[in-house]
Amino acid sequence: MVARVIPVDPFDLVVFGGTGDLSKRKILPGLYLRFLTGQMPPESRIIGAARSEMTDEAYRKLAAAALEEFVARDKQYKEAMGRFLDRLHYVAIDATGEGGWSQLAGLMRPGVVRAFYFSVAPALFGDLAERLHAHGIADQDSRIVVEKPFGRDLASARALNAVLAAHFEEHQIYRIDHYLGKETVQNLMAVRFANVLFEPLWNAHYVDHVQITVAETVGVGGRGAYYDKSGAMRDMVQNHMMQLLCLIAMEPPYKFDPNAVRDEKLKVIRALQPVAAEDIVRGQYRGKPGSEEGGKAEPSYLEDVGDAQSRTESYIALKAQVANWRWQGVPFYLRTGKKLRARTSEIAIVFKEAPHSIFGEEEGWKENVLAIRLQPNEGMNLRVMIKEPGPGGMRLTDVPLDMSFADALGEEGTDIPDAYERLIMDVIRGNQTLFMRGDEVEAAWAWTDPIIEGWEARGDRPRGYDPGSSGPEDALMLLHRDGRRWREIRG
Ligand code: NAP
Repeated sequence: MVARVIPVDPFDLVVFGGTGDLSKRKILPGLYLRFLTGQMPPESRIIGAARSEMTDEAYRKLAAAALEEFVARDKQYKEAMGRFLDRLHYVAIDATGEGGWSQLAGLMRPGVVRAFYFSVAPALFGDLAERLHAHGIADQDSRIVVEKPFGRDLASARALNAVLAAHFEEHQIYRIDHYLGKETVQNLMAVRFANVLFEPLWNAHYVDHVQITVAETVGVGGRGAYYDKSGAMRDMVQNHMMQLLCLIAMEPPYKFDPNAVRDEKLKVIRALQPVAAEDIVRGQYRGKPGSEEGGKAEPSYLEDVGDAQSRTESYIALKAQVANWRWQGVPFYLRTGKKLRARTSEIAIVFKEAPHSIFGEEEGWKENVLAIRLQPNEGMNLRVMIKEPGPGGMRLTDVPLDMSFADALGEEGTDIPDAYERLIMDVIRGNQTLFMRGDEVEAAWAWTDPIIEGWEARGDRPRGYDPGSSGPEDALMLLHRDGRRWREIRG
């Protein structure tokens, strides 16, 4: 199967923070890969902007080094990279100063899509928005792209929304949650709303519970100081995991339209119940001593962040409930953490037992599970019961109906664009479906704030867990006491 590529309209994309880590690792490689497929029209341009003084030539060198480091070797075509780099320009601008803005204004061309990527600290969003308008660079059709973190609580998210709303309409603002750009996450909507098979079962009558797991094997490493101010709840649950929960729990939108989809997600967030203290387990990874066989010592979370008193969690598990007709009584168990056994992201819909077993208890019956893997090896797996082959009576066994995209779709299944590639092209196309709306972000913080305030008021300390484990012991109890168990964390 050959992927269909529909070119977007020609554009000028200004990347504020164009020399930063995100630009080098994701934005520039993503744009190059779209250029390679022919989706980025050759007359489009990317204008990097940051405070450092630099010529266009020096910026192209910086970008070339980033492509060499972050684009897969088999996609590094010298000639195409050269043509792509020719589309790059650079302007030295301090978001908080006046220099460089008229040069940028002079560079912008009429008649092409204008987009501004704010790949800088959120504290600079207001300065950028204000100056883009003051210098007549942004117009009614321009788009701005903003990154996480979008606030650290409801008040700061509201303040950020207000700063942006002072200069841009909601339809111009693209709040990135890169999880929404993942192929499987969009496939979740296709599976639910393009098949008649699952939707009739997608409710409290047939679903026992849902598990969402995002496990990492790495610690906070060099990001310790930043991470310690946020923790797993703010860094993962409030945004990425909340978005996944919404896509599972939402009602079918009346059409696949940005506001129709986001209206339905918002209803889910608003239906989330407050979470009781006993339904949350927080953890911090312990350190590991070196071994005589040459195993390297690993620092603990507290050593990584350089604060022996830190109460920030590197792991969280919680039980969420969506209070509406469809999901009444169905727990959504969420867990995410660092330094766990394997790197994996998975959503599992665990169905209820059959109402009556004609085969008897002892015959190996297991529940049906639809598992949606975000990483590694994006795909889906539905476990169904069959008869164990061979003689010896009616014994049951569960087998996977496995759809790995790589197997099912051949080359196209493995050649899945990175989330950033897709999302940046959506910005140019003017499609906001996979971006968070301001009211969604605020509603997510309104649910998150009391949870965090609760553990802060109680002086709650995260439990220790061993690196390479599945998290704190208490997290197992969260499901055990409900008569359930977590799925194994497997890479
Ligand atoms: P970074 O590596 O620190 O880069 C910051 C960029 O902003 C640099 O290009 C810097 O260049 C520029 N900058 C700083 N102050 C400026 C000013 N006053 N005016 C204009 N430009 C200025 O940060 P990053 O990791 O790329 O992150 C950028 C944004 O993306 C942040 O909001 C971050 O939270 C978010 N984000 C990053 C990642 C990631 O993987 N890196 C992931 C998700 C979200 P000069 O110093 O030359 O000005």
